[in-house]
Formats: sequence, C-alpha cells, structure tokens
Amino acid sequence: MIKIRNVSKWYGSFQVLTDCSTHIEKGEVVVVCGPSGSGKSTLIKTVNALEPFQKGDIEVNGTSIADPKTNLPKLRSHVGMVFQHFELFPHLSVTENLTLAQIKVLGRNKDDALKRGLKMLDRVGLMAHKDKFPGQLSGGQQQRVAIARALSMDPIVMLFDEPTSALDPEMVGEVLDVMVQLANEGMTMMCVTHEMGFARKVSHRVIFMDQGKIIEDCSKQEFFGNPDARSPRAKEFLSKIL
Ligand code: ADP
Ligand code: MG
Repeated sequence: MIKIRNVSKWYGSFQVLTDCSTHIEKGEVVVVCGPSGSGKSTLIKTVNALEPFQKGDIEVNGTSIADPKTNLPKLRSHVGMVFQHFELFPHLSVTENLTLAQIKVLGRNKDDALKRGLKMLDRVGLMAHKDKFPGQLSGGQQQRVAIARALSMDPIVMLFDEPTSALDPEMVGEVLDVMVQLANEGMTMMCVTHEMGFARKVSHRVIFMDQGKIIEDCSKQEFFGNPDARSPRAKEFLSKIL
C-alpha cells in the first residue's frame, strides 16, 4: 500500500531525513517511535505529500508522489491523517466538520456526505454530539471526531501523528480504543505513537527512528521480545519508555 524508497529531505542545510526506506502492506499496522526531533512527523507527512522531499520516492497504492504528473490533492483525499492537535474547524458543528471535505473534495452530495459522516460518528461512539461545536467537546471527543472525519473520506490508509500525546491521561484510552478497533477491522495504519501498549496489542511492525534515520524496522515480536538484539539507541529508548 505504501512504499517509501530512499527518501531524504533537507531543511536548508539541515538533513531531517536520511535515506529512509520501508513499506506498509495492505491491512498492516506499523508503529513509528523514536526520540523527539528524530523526524517521525516529517516522515509521516511526506506520505501524504504534506512535506516535499528532495531525494527518493514514495508510492501510495501504486501512485508516485515524486512524479510531477501525480495529482497530489487527489492522492491526499485517499489518505486519512490525524494529528496531535485535533484541527477541527472551530466555527463548524461536528456534522459540518464531518461533511465539508466529502462535499468539497470528493464531490458528494449533502445527503450522502451526511449519511457517511454520521455512520462514522456512530462508529466512534459520538452520535449524541452531532450538533455540538468542537469547543463543547473534550479533547478525547474532539480527537474521535477527527478520526471519524478522516474515515468519512473512505481512506485507503490512515496516518496518525501522536494522536493521544496532547490529551489528558484519562482521555487517552477512548482514542486508543477507536484505533484498536480500526486496526482489528483491517485498516492499513501508520501510527507515530509512544503508546507501547497499543504497539504491543495491535501493531505488526515497529519502526524506530533516530536523527532522521530508520534504525529499526522489525516485527513487534522482535522489537519487544529481545531488547538485547536492538541497536543501543533503541534499547535506551525502550528502557525509558517501558
Ligand atoms: P519528531 O516528530 O520525531 O519529533 P520532526 O519530524 O517534527 O521530529 O522534526 C525533525 C527535525 O526537523 C527536528 O530537529 C526539527 O527541529 C526539524 N524541523 C521540523 N520542521 C522544521 C522546519 N519547518 N524547518 C526547519 N527544521 C524543522
Ligand atoms: Mg512529531
């Protein structure tokens, strides 16, 4: 579903990604972890072409991002993204947040968009809040709406960038529950997260990044099962986080 091939990126003279390669199969859940500043957000944003890169290529479902002929807005419309900060439109109701991009980007009519949006809202357990505004919801609820909004676009893959790290601790579980449910339903997912419980429970693979490089890319069994076989940086990271 996603092929990342030898991607390098610079901000001016600072190299933020160095020769990153990996792939994500259909239905696979891959967790990306690593210290702050290691390039996780930058890498995940290159996958839906929110961040350009200077070297290498990324294919999403067979479409090359580096190919100048690729219609990037169209490609992006198939890739769901959920960020650390919920990024709902504050002046729009939950329902309007759910339907806007379906209507504007996918060209759906209002009724179809509403039907799809409410189905996804129900899926994240928030039907009762459909007419509220984001400011009237808790952080956990807002993040669940953001997930429902992304799902309303019928994504072929979901990208998550630390979706729970801005939440109060008591709200982390409700968002992770939705993500676990998605994973169990076979959604292809790339998740930047430090929630190692989530990684252990549902991920297939774990990628560990450090200083812009992919240092580890292995099965979750390998990653958690045998820390001594890991690189010193990954081992140190694991010892702090587990
Ligand atoms: P992570 O998500 O792992 O914390 P990021 O991908 O956000 O890491 O950032 C990786 C590195 O790139 C950091 O050193 C950060 O300071 C730098 N960086 C991120 N965005 C920019 C930018 N727009 N301009 C310059 N440097 C940036
Ligand atoms: Mg980040």
